[in-house]
Amino acid sequence: MPKINHFIAPILIIFIFITYYLIKNFSNKSLHAAPAVASDLVDSVTEKLINDELLIEYIYEDLILIKSGQTFGKIIKKYNISESEQYEISKLLNSEIDLKRLNIGTEIGVTYSRDSDKINIKKISIIDKENNQTNLIKLADVYQLESSSLLMHVETIKKEITIKSSLYQSAVAADVPPNIIMQFVNLYGFDVDFQREIRNGNKMTIYYEAFMDSKLNIIKSGNISFASLTLKKNTYNLYRYLTPDNNKAEYFDEAGKSAVKALMKTPINGASLSSGFGLRKHPILGYDRLHQGVDFAAPSGTPIMAAGTGFIERIGMNGGAGNFIKIKHINGYKTAYGHMSKFASGLKKGTKVTQGQTIGFVGSTGMSTGPHLHYEVIFNNKKINPMAMKLPSGRKLKGKILDDFVSHVRKLNEEMNLY
Ligand SMILES: [Zn+2]
Repeated sequence: MPKINHFIAPILIIFIFITYYLIKNFSNKSLHAAPAVASDLVDSVTEKLINDELLIEYIYEDLILIKSGQTFGKIIKKYNISESEQYEISKLLNSEIDLKRLNIGTEIGVTYSRDSDKINIKKISIIDKENNQTNLIKLADVYQLESSSLLMHVETIKKEITIKSSLYQSAVAADVPPNIIMQFVNLYGFDVDFQREIRNGNKMTIYYEAFMDSKLNIIKSGNISFASLTLKKNTYNLYRYLTPDNNKAEYFDEAGKSAVKALMKTPINGASLSSGFGLRKHPILGYDRLHQGVDFAAPSGTPIMAAGTGFIERIGMNGGAGNFIKIKHINGYKTAYGHMSKFASGLKKGTKVTQGQTIGFVGSTGMSTGPHLHYEVIFNNKKINPMAMKLPSGRKLKGKILDDFVSHVRKLNEEMNLY
């Protein structure tokens, strides 16, 4: 079964390590130059890149404020990990802080990935009101406690970088820690193909937290508060924001749209699902056949949208599928569209399309009994049921939360301009 069944909870960071190219850039020199704490991310990244293929790991980050009556034990129980692992986590953290006496308002951060129902904890942070932080980090299946007594205060660092040769090397040359560079790359996973779209002269801005000791040495880096990437045509600004309704730290553009953009289940407006995914009697061939997509009945000429941002991999006549487009998205997904009457103008193999862009129009070309869109979603080369996709929601902030976000953006912009 396809892996997308696993992506249930909202996510924060998407680990999409597209290029191989990036591995090569992980020179020993930069690894050694990194602050010690960066190694957890860098290690897991390099390990995963060895296969030299497109790998996706969604990293979730929950931030939980301790309320009255809430205990660490109750919180950790909600994650699907074994009792012995819960015990180990509590024992290690207890050696540093008294878990039974956490003050109201203490912040618990849980960073994890999930494989099916299995939760893989990556990091647990406990941050008190004075900003003292205790971290438990899992490296190669072993938990390690990171003492926080040295962390005196947090500063935010702004780097404005013009990309030369490679994004990674340019950022390293500007002393941006590797884990911050990886976070940066991950933020743009749904919008930018780092292998194909980065050019010399492109610009990036990163505004991130650095934890200093009493001698003002940077001990480790924290989260990116703001990221901006300017490519040839577009600038992508992203703001980190803790959504007050569900306590998730997520990234949004100025308009409050999440950096996470799921594929559309229905890439067409006003259409009705006329044939689902699965075994059915083929309307023309007459015998049972696996229908590896879904059909939407719609009047001829209805615009068809790109279900997600990506590159056109194939465009043209394709036998029974008629006028056909296949789009390669950058997170392991492809989508395909059949029976179109015509394509939108200006599209050819390799053209970048963005989510919601019109790519063609409903028709009945190829083996078809009437105007409809045949739509397929392919994940890691397997055709999957688009209607059953459980992809991250790609939330858009609204109402009071949007107002709060807008004032957060204003404050952060002022802070960065003063910087
Ligand atoms: Zn079909």
